[in-house]
Amino acid sequence: MTTLAPVRTIGIFGGGQLGLMLGNAARPLGIMTVFLEDSPNCPASLTGQVFTSTQSDRFESMCDTFTLEFENTPLEHANHIEKNHKLFPSSHALLIAQDRLNEKNLFNELGITTVPFLSVNDLDGLRHACQQLGLPLVLKTSRGGYDGKGQFVIRTIDDIITAWDELGEATKIAPLIAEGFIDFSREVSIIAVRSQTGEIRYYPLVENTHSNGILVKTVAPAPNSDHLTWQAQQNIKKLLEHLDYVGVMTLELFVTDAGLIANEIAPRVHNSGHWTIEGAVCSQFENHIRAVAGLPLGSTDITQPSVMINIIGQFPDPSQLLAISGVHFHHYHKEERAGRKIGHITIMTGDELLNDTVNQAIECLPNRLGL
Ligand code: AMP
Repeated sequence: MTTLAPVRTIGIFGGGQLGLMLGNAARPLGIMTVFLEDSPNCPASLTGQVFTSTQSDRFESMCDTFTLEFENTPLEHANHIEKNHKLFPSSHALLIAQDRLNEKNLFNELGITTVPFLSVNDLDGLRHACQQLGLPLVLKTSRGGYDGKGQFVIRTIDDIITAWDELGEATKIAPLIAEGFIDFSREVSIIAVRSQTGEIRYYPLVENTHSNGILVKTVAPAPNSDHLTWQAQQNIKKLLEHLDYVGVMTLELFVTDAGLIANEIAPRVHNSGHWTIEGAVCSQFENHIRAVAGLPLGSTDITQPSVMINIIGQFPDPSQLLAISGVHFHHYHKEERAGRKIGHITIMTGDELLNDTVNQAIECLPNRLGL
């Protein structure tokens, strides 16, 4: 077996709340985290030193190994780091995950079911896609979209021009992707972690609710999902092994009558795994740090069924929320702004009161987002 050099400092690209939670998980392991991020007062600054892009040499010189919390970490940064250091996940995994067309082509190559899709370069190409795939369809930018941004649902022929006016500009950077509109019954995700020795551990499948493309609620484990677990695990295993991936990966899936359909991967810890901080033996954040540092992985077993709810736009009164037994509150130290994820709560009561407690907690939120 290879002996891995002890890791004392991990350099993380990005400094948002995922970085904050990675830093919090690293500290008890005796591992320091530092961040490359252009906002010095970012959430991760609470847990480690932040370097801006003009200080990237110092960032690089301080760290034994590197990872990321920002999916759109520029590929040139990743390629540069890989010349002299280890980066987990690799720039190749990033190249795939940053582009929806690359991602879906790889899914199909590996036998993972996707929606039918076509690449779109121009307005004629969009008209052709509408004929081939039928309406409605979802037109998306292949790069840079997040939380439902960069998407347009084309429902009638009259929407084609409006959709093109909105998204056509993006074809100067990369083609758009037109996807058949899926009539799914629910959305689920699976998070798995792969170590440097190739061991894979899976968290249970969870059910996700979105509002305007933004995740608002995760239920762990996903109810009535035992029959879906094997397929989800096989899908993410194929991706992890094909990419020789190290660290946490998330696969988002649609549940349909015909089974699971893969939507996208995130090459990082994920919002749908925040419940693991309290609800799993070893959180997604700690397992990612363990994998990147070459340490043995921890158990992904669930300790108690949990429900995670995002705090979006406006903070609730924390004392009102914390008066409810079973509520854990996470504040990201971000300013309030419409549509912005600024915190989350995880609710776990360990008994049949879970749903009632979730409803009580939702009552405390100023922005309930249809929950
Ligand atoms: P995405 O950025 O691909 O995760 O999309 C954001 C949300 O839009 C998803 O969570 C779904 O709720 C919805 N969505 C995305 N793609 C499709 C599709 N092909 N058909 C139906 N709904 C979709």
